[in-house]
Amino acid sequence: MRPNSLIELDRDHLIHPVISWKGHEARGATVLQSAKGATLTDAEGHTLLDGFSGLWCVNVGYGHESIVEVAAEQMRRLPYATGYFHFSSEPAIRLAARLAELAPGDLNHVYFTLGGSDAVDSAVRFIRYYYNVTGRPTKKHMIALERGYHGSSTIGAGLTAIQSFHDGFDAPTQLQHHIPSPYPYRNPAGDSAEAVIAASVAALKAKVEELGADNVAAFFAEPIQGSGGVIVPPDGWLKAMRDTARELDILFVADEVITGFGRTGPLFGVEHDGVVPDLMTTAKGLTSGYSPMGAVLMSDRIYRAIADGAPAGKPIGHGFTYSAHPVSAAVGLEVLRLYTEGGILENGRRAGARFAAGLARLADHPLVGDVRVRGLLAGVELVTNKAKRTKPSPDLGLSGHLARFGYKNGVIFRAFADDIVGFAPPLCCTDEDIDTLLARFEQTLNDVLDVADVRAALA
Ligand code: PLP
Repeated sequence: MRPNSLIELDRDHLIHPVISWKGHEARGATVLQSAKGATLTDAEGHTLLDGFSGLWCVNVGYGHESIVEVAAEQMRRLPYATGYFHFSSEPAIRLAARLAELAPGDLNHVYFTLGGSDAVDSAVRFIRYYYNVTGRPTKKHMIALERGYHGSSTIGAGLTAIQSFHDGFDAPTQLQHHIPSPYPYRNPAGDSAEAVIAASVAALKAKVEELGADNVAAFFAEPIQGSGGVIVPPDGWLKAMRDTARELDILFVADEVITGFGRTGPLFGVEHDGVVPDLMTTAKGLTSGYSPMGAVLMSDRIYRAIADGAPAGKPIGHGFTYSAHPVSAAVGLEVLRLYTEGGILENGRRAGARFAAGLARLADHPLVGDVRVRGLLAGVELVTNKAKRTKPSPDLGLSGHLARFGYKNGVIFRAFADDIVGFAPPLCCTDEDIDTLLARFEQTLNDVLDVADVRAALA
């Protein structure tokens, strides 16, 4: 089918996530057609280096035949097996066991979902259930971080602190609260690790005191905030927050939907600080986007308390038709094999070091205020005055310029609110991919700088 007819059909029938529907009608879709390694090709034959791994999910890169083979084989043998009641399937069992083996500490129990939003939603429901069956039913309030993203389910969107996920949706924020994000570049008390950690610890304690410890259930945090602008907390922050949560008698939930599966170097983001959360939510890199799947990992203690505390003989009523889907589980097992035995994690670490060095060189660019990188997760914050760290005026429309010039230069990244550019290239990137990505991004920045209004704003 010609691209134009596809674009018309898309405009008439396909509702897209996280976009102005009217804006999309006016612009039309970019139809992606095929991919290999780190390169995408659109329906017009334009090739794009994918600096964002789809939506920070295709960690192993595109075109792995071994994944296609295990999916096809599983579809032939057993395309579906319910996880309900006492039914199970071999790939789901093996994937749960492998995750328990790879995850830190005693996160030994795995509940499979279809993605990240329902993993967060499931975590909230299990936490509520846990406190109800262990005799502490007043513990209902959840605390998360400003600029945090925890999906767009009804509950998760309340934990998410990005305004467009609340506005107009009546997000249930009565039981969900936010404290400032650990954002060194814009921390009012300075960017030292001590100042950032002290501010977060004090904010969590103050919020729990305000709500009453008997009413607070959990603290949710991404080890590195993704959609909020790739905010990288200092070393030691996760451990301080984990310890504070324990001291306050609230659960600590690490949302590893982006940071899991090698994105930041180690398999999980919490490993940077050697932290073991009470629950962990994952998705994306679990199957590298080849098939939808997420997972909640639960500690021995929480699992046991729920199993023993639930009313005898009554079902624990939480489940999805596609929980523990055998095809996704088979894909997940092969993806995990590629990370650990196929050299992908190791390659990701090497590529991450090269990417970090290249981005550091761009710190001198007139538009670049801050560069933050962990592994292959990076944020580049643009400013119009480096010394004063001035956020660009929305009137400059930088994100539109970035998207337009990025496409012209053949590179995909994401421009978040406050003109922060996010990168999450596939872990399979070669040195050449990384160098090309950096060169195309630099060209894009130069093109943006050449826009008359932008140059005038910097003068
Ligand atoms: N949690 C985090 C940290 C995420 O970044 C996302 C998605 O980007 C989600 C949850 C929601 O995941 P999904 O889009 O798979 O529902």
